Amino acid sequence: MIIIPYSITHRDAWNDFVAGSKQGTFLLNRNFMDYHADRFFDCSIMICQADDDKGAYTSTEQNFGDIIAVMPANWIEETQTVESHGGLTYGGLLTREDITETEVLQVLQAAFTYYREMMGARVLLYKPIPYIYSTLPSGEDLYALFRANAQLSRRLVSSVVDMRHQLRMSALRTNGVKKALASGFYIDRMQEGDRETLNEFWVLMEDMLMRHHKASPTHTVDEISLLISRFPREIKVYIVRNSSLRIVAGVIVFETGSVAHVQYIASSTEGIENGALDLLFRHLITERYKNMDYLDLGTSNEAHGHILNEGLIAKKESFGGRAVCYDTYRVMLDEPGIATMCDLHKPKDKKKQIKYLDLKKLNHTYEPYLSYEINRVTQSGFYLLGQENQRFEQTWKNYVRTRNCVLTGNGLEALVLILRAYMQLNGWRRGDYVLVQGNTYIATVMAIREAGLTPVLFDPAYHPVHGMPMLDYDHIGRILAKLDSSHSLRAIMPVHLYGRVWDMDNVRKFASLHDIKVIEDAAQAHGAEINGVRAGALGDAAGWSFYPGKNLGALGDAGCVTTNDDKLADLIRTMANYGSREKYVNEVEGMNSRVDEIQAAILTVKFPYLNIENKRRREIADRYMTGIDNPLIKLQQRPGNPEENVWHIFPVYCAERDKLQAYLKENGVETLIHYPIPPHRQASLHGEGKLLIPESLPVTEKEAREELSLPVSPVMSNDDVDSVIALLNRFVAQ
Ligand SMILES: *Cc1c(COP(=O)(O)O)cnc(C)c1O
Repeated sequence: MIIIPYSITHRDAWNDFVAGSKQGTFLLNRNFMDYHADRFFDCSIMICQADDDKGAYTSTEQNFGDIIAVMPANWIEETQTVESHGGLTYGGLLTREDITETEVLQVLQAAFTYYREMMGARVLLYKPIPYIYSTLPSGEDLYALFRANAQLSRRLVSSVVDMRHQLRMSALRTNGVKKALASGFYIDRMQEGDRETLNEFWVLMEDMLMRHHKASPTHTVDEISLLISRFPREIKVYIVRNSSLRIVAGVIVFETGSVAHVQYIASSTEGIENGALDLLFRHLITERYKNMDYLDLGTSNEAHGHILNEGLIAKKESFGGRAVCYDTYRVMLDEPGIATMCDLHKPKDKKKQIKYLDLKKLNHTYEPYLSYEINRVTQSGFYLLGQENQRFEQTWKNYVRTRNCVLTGNGLEALVLILRAYMQLNGWRRGDYVLVQGNTYIATVMAIREAGLTPVLFDPAYHPVHGMPMLDYDHIGRILAKLDSSHSLRAIMPVHLYGRVWDMDNVRKFASLHDIKVIEDAAQAHGAEINGVRAGALGDAAGWSFYPGKNLGALGDAGCVTTNDDKLADLIRTMANYGSREKYVNEVEGMNSRVDEIQAAILTVKFPYLNIENKRRREIADRYMTGIDNPLIKLQQRPGNPEENVWHIFPVYCAERDKLQAYLKENGVETLIHYPIPPHRQASLHGEGKLLIPESLPVTEKEAREELSLPVSPVMSNDDVDSVIALLNRFVAQ
């Protein structure tokens, strides 16, 4: 930006700019300001776009290029303050029509810096031009003031009639007009040089000002007379006379291109009682200035702006105007915030950060519906086990295609409830065995323990071509051979880890051979399917989690059970509500595992997007699988069928996993490890009989050492994915 102090030689450039500016010709042009220049030291500036934008200031530049803004201002020596125009009329930054918010920030920052550095000013009293006069709302000004840490220092309230959208004149005013006409009042425009009329009006005005407001006018009658003779086209005096030709009311109007400023409004007692001003204002609004954009009836503050005369505002409003705030902000020019005003808008040289999962951003995509639903449920007065629960259960069982869905407090409890209900229905005993894969989140194993059963850990195998998890019958056979026969094997719990479904034919074949239940942990597999059957409908029962980070997540905890077994579902529903079907009658030992109505409603809002987001996850995964090409980094095999994976997690495997993670972090990419310590190595599960590991678990151990989860959030852009790929492909283990 180049800043040029205004001087009389720039008058034409200034006037041209003002006439074509966004704020129009509201501000009196330079001729008028220059006339008053002897009253104060003018420090107005013109702001131009510099080619190299280094914030240079010049003083006498003739060839200054494009002006993008001008700011009229005065200097107040005693307080070393710059006041954005403190003259007769309103001042503030005038900008080019097509200015952007960022440019306003830059302009004001340059202006503030200029006043501080070149003039040694400490304070700027800045008066943004009220938006009502702009062709566009000038929120840019306010935002810049906010960034500069400016404080509101004075608020004046003016009343403005917007001629194109004026309010209706009140009946009281219309009656006043009738009264004035009936009294024989008439309107007269003072002729140029009619000093007698001006004197008579001035006496009336001084008298009324003193009587009602204990104030005297800013101008003396001589000053105003001089002004009128100097600017006869801009300043007009309108008066109302009674039938004996005496002045009963009058105003002085300062005309600009689009605004008529009414100042010095006065009426005698006779005029007030008989509607003299009603007559006059109706004339100004409907006749004289009907082609102007605005008629400004002036501010309604007294005692130097300290007291708001609300009666006066109401009265002015009844002429069809609206109250407009004329504010002054105090900008402390050595405020450190000024140096960083534009920083948010500067391109960052900081490295781009790619979050693992930006939940805030993701959930924002559901607004305003989330907020609306939260509000609606809050106002409904019903918070647990109501319509919203029923509605989502219906939705989810239709989606998974099972006969039942029972909402539970979370995913862990869904699994616990399935196991407990089976124990009760089928006579399983405490300590009976449940097979569970070692490479899972601890919740699966914990659920078995919580139900009083014994987890028996095994390693999954993977199909050599499409990588689907499956049972290694030899491995399982050796495990079964080692189990103590004092307890029975009751169930197997395959976990569709990372969103990839198990080879369920292979699991069910094993289960029916041993007459055990298949309980899916589907907490990571919302929407995955194999041969047209969804995860959650592939076994005897499935536990789900709607933890916020899952593919379908609530804004807190929630979970559910899906099953085709009606008896099981019914018992789980009872158990989850204190074991009671009827209030205060507890048939079975239960627990409290409920979902609140707000979470259920949120799930209903988010549900329709699950397939869309899963599709996006698949696209991202596909991009990774196609793009990652580094012998140090291994991927899962591509699924034979895209439906078989919903990519809750995108895992890669690397012998130098920790180095890889640190390297990505250094380059702004957040990753996670699922899971660094496998359940059987957790301290909480050590101890006599807490879990059984009849065979070693090399697959589980290796995954815990080598797995790294890449960001795969549906709100990630392809550019983000590509930059992760580029980083991975550049990775070398030193
Ligand atoms: C998230 C998860 C759970 C537990 O769900 P919560 O709702 O957190 O209790 C269980 N198993 C697996 C595999 C999970 O990923």
